[in-house]
Amino acid sequence: MNLVLMGLPGAGKGTQADKIVDKYGVPHISTGDMFRLAMKEGTELGLKAKSFIDKGELVPDEVTIGIVRERLSMKDCEQGFLLDGFPRTVAQAEALEVILADLGKKIDYVINIDVDQSILMERLTGRRICKNCGATYHLVFNPPAEAGVCDRCNGELYQRADDNAETVQNRLDVNVKQTQPLLDYYNEKGYLKNINGQQHIDQVFSNLDELLKGLK
Ligand SMILES: [Zn+2]
Repeated sequence: MNLVLMGLPGAGKGTQADKIVDKYGVPHISTGDMFRLAMKEGTELGLKAKSFIDKGELVPDEVTIGIVRERLSMKDCEQGFLLDGFPRTVAQAEALEVILADLGKKIDYVINIDVDQSILMERLTGRRICKNCGATYHLVFNPPAEAGVCDRCNGELYQRADDNAETVQNRLDVNVKQTQPLLDYYNEKGYLKNINGQQHIDQVFSNLDELLKGLK
């Protein structure tokens, strides 16, 4: 079960990744975790990556790709893996093909959790936080009893600057621009499976599960 998981911010990728790992026991390989592991173990590539991260610079592709190769060669990936956050570009996707071919593996599915942007906006801009006690609410999923007022302490609710419509729209635009070429690439290769992420979390997973059952 060799999977790549994709989805825009707010699509519910993390939640579905956890559910796949719980049910199928494949390692969840996120870029951040991969870098942290390589740095902790002090591998040559890990140290190289650290030197860029410490300077606040982007880690060059060749280093990232080397770290992916090391990670996918580990024993726990023998029965499969769930890649999350890599690849980010078509160049990285092509490098991944080479790595997998070298390891005698191939991608089974690239799963895209698909959610309309208008719904992502609603999900990502709906968070409200209590100024007084820090309790968090969501206008749609977990609304306070009285608009703008904390249920627990009657404190005033506010929206974080990161959650405002303009910032969120920018974040989505950047992500769409980055991921669309990758989705097109995987679609042409026949790997891409779109899963409707606009349903209840359990229904999304049920659709995923239906797809993955065929692999085991
Ligand atoms: Zn409060």
